[in-house]
Amino acid sequence: MKLGRRKFLGLGSAALVGLSLKSERKIAGSFVNDSFQIGHLLRDRASFPAAKRVEKVPVVIVGGGIAGLSAAWRLRKRGFTDFVLLEMNTQPGGNARWGENEITAYPWAAHYVPVPGPKAVYVRELFEDLGVLKNGQWEERYLAFSPQERLFLYGRWQEGIEPAVGLTPKDRDQFRRLENLFSEFRKTGSFTVPLELGLSSKFQDLDRISFSEWLRQQGFDSRLLNWYMNYACRDDYGALASDTSAWAGIHYFSSREPEEKGPLTWPEGNGWITRRLLERIGANVRTSQMVHRITQTRRGASVFAGDTEFQSEFVIFAAPTFLAPYLLEKFPRLHDFVYSPWLTANLTLDRYPESRGAEPSWDTVFLDSPTLGYVDAMHQSLRTYIDRTVWTCTRAKPPASPRKRLGLLERSHSPRPRTRPLRHPPVRLPHRHHAHGPRHDPPRCRLDFLRRASPPHSSEQPNPLRQL
Ligand SMILES: Cc1cc2nc3c(=O)[nH]c(=O)nc-3n(C[C@H](O)[C@H](O)[C@H](O)COP(=O)(O)OP(=O)(O)OC[C@H]3O[C@@H](n4cnc5c(N)ncnc54)[C@H](O)[C@@H]3O)c2cc1C
Repeated sequence: MKLGRRKFLGLGSAALVGLSLKSERKIAGSFVNDSFQIGHLLRDRASFPAAKRVEKVPVVIVGGGIAGLSAAWRLRKRGFTDFVLLEMNTQPGGNARWGENEITAYPWAAHYVPVPGPKAVYVRELFEDLGVLKNGQWEERYLAFSPQERLFLYGRWQEGIEPAVGLTPKDRDQFRRLENLFSEFRKTGSFTVPLELGLSSKFQDLDRISFSEWLRQQGFDSRLLNWYMNYACRDDYGALASDTSAWAGIHYFSSREPEEKGPLTWPEGNGWITRRLLERIGANVRTSQMVHRITQTRRGASVFAGDTEFQSEFVIFAAPTFLAPYLLEKFPRLHDFVYSPWLTANLTLDRYPESRGAEPSWDTVFLDSPTLGYVDAMHQSLRTYIDRTVWTCTRAKPPASPRKRLGLLERSHSPRPRTRPLRHPPVRLPHRHHAHGPRHDPPRCRLDFLRRASPPHSSEQPNPLRQL
């Protein structure tokens, strides 16, 4: 998409309720899932009414994203059911929320899981329970069907995201050399998921320079190679390669299995996992319950949400880390924790656009586009005839400076009158359009990623968040 995020957010209600080019019919649409109004009450440290009721419950989970839901799943799986999960939104799932219309279910953000390697034992246990992994084999229908990815470059489509058209011998040589380097890093066993398993001081220096600087030092100056590395950082970390630590950039490639069959994906993306988890632990989930304070008590902690004080022995904090100083008394300020705003737009198409070159695929990317492209919700459908679909488009916009970022947070999310029509070069406009955002996830992997990856807590004060 050629549209800047600010311009996009500045589109008029006319635009979102009825987008149209001169010759096209109107496109209905709106901003959805806008929970920022209540979220900003925390940011503005608004005062909340005193609790009218007390509930005693041994364990409280704060946040119903994939982290909170999977913690709940694990508790129940171990036979422990005496807990509540408090989620501020009406729909649980966080970034793994999903939507649905008459055509298909579709994701609101997270849309795939790289096939977990042998060391990711907990994720494998979860997928065994959900029927995704059976007797050591991944269920075929959940592995992204071919063709998985395509890239739009030089006016045509090619299969795969790694640029393969118009490469000079120098480009080819650099792609090959970099692949070999990633393979060497992989063999060291230091770049793993989960991250903690492989961590070694041997590579810590890589965390002190940026990925782009490391690429430059290694003599990688191919424009196409640098575009691809930058795309990977924007896609995974919401940051440019110049803002991503070399350690994190290398981890992206070297932690994945070289011959990975996946990724695992579903029409509603990771919303499928959320749905299956809710089937198992839904009885413990309370929605529209924003936690506004957590205090330490003699027995454990008190968690305040709505008009209730939940008196608990343990709290599992599964809300985004940046909220901890707002909810927990005396929690150290997070000085250098940076989040990138994301925008997700779901476009409902009344028919597939024509395309030349590589066939339509699950994931579509555009060379040199500020967007991250889109995924097709109908790609995994087993229907024999498919004429309509929903595309999930994402854009991560790393703000240039903390001041500008603060400006974004201050900015109204309300649409303003549109001055220019929406354009998307290779496709016709969709007939319905829903935008979701901006979001503030995930934390950007800037320099010193490894230190930032563990949330701080002061050693002088006891941490009210104990580990189960
Ligand atoms: C656009 C986008 C695309 C992504 N794509 C992928 C992908 O394809 N694959 C992948 O693996 N990862 C992806 N990610 C990353 C992934 O979504 C996150 O790593 C993951 O969602 C983190 O889960 P979480 O539960 O920690 O946080 P979240 O998903 O942010 O969930 C936190 C939950 O806490 C709730 N909450 C917040 N404050 C409170 C409060 N005060 N009281 C009660 N509840 C509260 C929120 O409403 C939310 O439901 C993507 C992220 C984004 C933004």
